[in-house]
Amino acid sequence: MPDNVLVRFAPSPTGLLHAGNARTAVLNYLFAKKNGGRFMLRIDDTDAERSTAEYDEGIRADLQWLGIVHEVFARQSEREASHLNAADRLRAAGLLYPCYETPDELDRQRKRLQARGLPPIYDRAALKLTDEDRAKYEAAGRAPHWRFKLAQKKVAWDDLIRGHVEIDTHTVSDPVLQREDGRFLYTLPSVVDDVELDVTHIIRGEDHVTNTAAQIEIFEALGAPVPKFAHFALLVGAGGERLSKRLGSLSLQQMREDGIEPLAAVSYLAKIGTSDAVEPRTSLDALIAEFDFAKIGRAPARFDLVELTALNGKLLHLLPYEAVKTQLGAANADLGAPFWEAVKPNLTRIADAAEWKSVVTGPVTPVREDPEFLAKAAEILPAEIGSDTWSVWTKAVAAATGRKGKALFHPLRLALTGREHGPELAKLLPLIGRERAVARLNGETA
Ligand code: GLU
Repeated sequence: MPDNVLVRFAPSPTGLLHAGNARTAVLNYLFAKKNGGRFMLRIDDTDAERSTAEYDEGIRADLQWLGIVHEVFARQSEREASHLNAADRLRAAGLLYPCYETPDELDRQRKRLQARGLPPIYDRAALKLTDEDRAKYEAAGRAPHWRFKLAQKKVAWDDLIRGHVEIDTHTVSDPVLQREDGRFLYTLPSVVDDVELDVTHIIRGEDHVTNTAAQIEIFEALGAPVPKFAHFALLVGAGGERLSKRLGSLSLQQMREDGIEPLAAVSYLAKIGTSDAVEPRTSLDALIAEFDFAKIGRAPARFDLVELTALNGKLLHLLPYEAVKTQLGAANADLGAPFWEAVKPNLTRIADAAEWKSVVTGPVTPVREDPEFLAKAAEILPAEIGSDTWSVWTKAVAAATGRKGKALFHPLRLALTGREHGPELAKLLPLIGRERAVARLNGETA
């Protein structure tokens, strides 16, 4: 691996980052860090109509939340001079040619081909235009769009995920690089920026495989070295459906609002679709150390919000108090580490701790099915409550009442917490404290 690895994550600021693009960012980041390289955030904002400053900021906020830091930053709209220059070079080399078909004409052409069972590949009619034809179009007010003239050859690369890939560019339409109004589509600016910013590895979804063949030809036409490519299978939903940017429920913003921890999201995105178990890691470093393209499968990775939420819970169970202290905030009040240790096995989200805090500090309306039994238990509750009180006390209650098992423990839980289930009472009791415990056992809301 070269020691100057530079990858780029190149979202278009036309929507919120969703699980699919976040996975692209995560895989690029883990690969770069595994190889001592750098990560570039490149905002692909050539589509001025659909790009917005809010989405641009949203992307940065989402990456920051994930813990993905970029060492290099670029914005395509600021690099237009380079794109124009490259287009001129391609034009001068006869590789960028003007076309005058209207969208309607192109559409009809595609339909005609499809009706005959042929692939809808552009017929290159514009290459046959004479100077006179072109002058006529221009005189009639038609401005050209510009297509890159593919070499119509086999383009091959050794994909770091898919292995040897070969695409015959005979089977691909010459891509439009520049529109009638002079603006660029994504294809050329991406190559130009990859060249000028020294990108070494392009890691992206397999929906770009055909682009890659055309882009490799463009790298070559510009006399630039071709980066290495890795194309991973796209993410699908829990039911196998395609994800789209518009699925707001899978946006990182939504995950954040739903209480998903960034490390849960990154762990999940790093592990789905790989041969590793889908388990949380408590640091990015652990994920970096385990990253390997060889583990990424060819089948689509499934993104399941239910699975992610469960993984969030598993992550919380692994986290020490210090890691969550700030976030716990009011949900923890001044109960400190003992509270976190008591409740974390019962959480899937940090915010759920608030419910257990209210169980500890009250007021709790006790559920009392057998007041006499509870009054007896209250009577023999030790004067000092510590970490071993629960086992000492319940043994004494068992001896005094002859109860055991569920008949012993369940009424105590219902009275002390007002709930059927919850964290271990051995840990909760010292937090509830003697005064509140006695009051609840005796039927008072406390
Ligand atoms: N802006 C492009 C996209 O969002 C980037 C694709 C690429 O990684 O080259 O699809």
